[in-house]
Amino acid sequence: MKIRRIYIDADAADDPVTEQVCRRIGLPVKRVNHPVEIYQQISASPDPEAAGKSVLLLTRNKGRFIRDCPGTTHYTCCGYQILHVGAYCSMDCAYCILQAYYHPPVLQFFTNHDELNEQLQSFFDQGVVGRIGTGEFTDSLIWEPLFPLAQQLVERFSRQDTGNLELKTKTAAVDDLLAISHNRKTIMAWSLNTQTVIRHQERATAGLSARIEAAEKCQASGYPLAFHFDPMILYPGCHADYEAVVHLLFARIDPANIVWISIGSFRFMPELKEVIARRFPDSTIIYGEFIKALDGKMRYFKPLRIRMYRWLIDRIREKAPDVLIYFCMEDEEIWEKALGFTPAAHGGLARMLDERAASMCGLNGRVQTR
Ligand code: SF4
Repeated sequence: MKIRRIYIDADAADDPVTEQVCRRIGLPVKRVNHPVEIYQQISASPDPEAAGKSVLLLTRNKGRFIRDCPGTTHYTCCGYQILHVGAYCSMDCAYCILQAYYHPPVLQFFTNHDELNEQLQSFFDQGVVGRIGTGEFTDSLIWEPLFPLAQQLVERFSRQDTGNLELKTKTAAVDDLLAISHNRKTIMAWSLNTQTVIRHQERATAGLSARIEAAEKCQASGYPLAFHFDPMILYPGCHADYEAVVHLLFARIDPANIVWISIGSFRFMPELKEVIARRFPDSTIIYGEFIKALDGKMRYFKPLRIRMYRWLIDRIREKAPDVLIYFCMEDEEIWEKALGFTPAAHGGLARMLDERAASMCGLNGRVQTR
């Protein structure tokens, strides 16, 4: 993180988390009564999306910490829940939806952990198997230098047996998690992509080898693992590059430790196109064979998606015949043509993943059909 300035929302000023973060960072802080002043400054910058990565707002989460993943209409959703601990990201991926999601985007870390803990306890008390993750509106591990939240969550989840935490990252910063007693209730997950995509589209993220090396360390510490080939991006030579990713992954990781692998392809809200063109002028990812899909997002033409998914699944299956593969936000036709079945035949995608989490992570709650 390259934070240059910290702002504290007046409501958050007395929270112990605020004090801890300020002590750790040791930068000048400014108290604000309303963050509009910050938003105005960031919006006036020539590159607001980059400016928002150098400013940290410590504030209270005024909504729910636990909420359903918004998913998208018309596509099969996995029934994931989000643990909303903060927003935006210090890394800088060309395709990052957060650039267009917040206006303007700014790093925010929520400080009312008393409410976070209460809501987590209610989540555990339901007695129902639930999958929850912090990597939807941010990266799960970027906050650790400011506050050891992932470490605390791993420890907290280890003491119950209905919920499953997924920490999803593009960093390799796992060393502080290795010695924690996790009781297999946390899945350590990485987004994977080709080295070409990482180099050109994922600024400031860990390289492919570093991500897999970090996964290998977590494997040695007994964590269950997950990987997300998302977003797959088509470019000349991409097949050889994705094959190299699969090869590297299974040279280091035992398929028996993988809870699931998800696959998705590059898709974007039309508003993001202007941001990518402006901020990543050398990127060509927005100039492909796209159509506007039912959810309003631009997606690769469906036959292209089916072909690339089938091809990747074949490569994965050669190394890991039994690993659970699922699609993030695709329709039944894609499932049928690329995987040979639809989730409905297994009680729905959410149920499939809940059952898998229950068996791989030793969960004891009720599995519901959602
Ligand atoms: S790592 Fe994830 S959250 Fe961070 S910039 Fe990249 S896509 Fe966005």
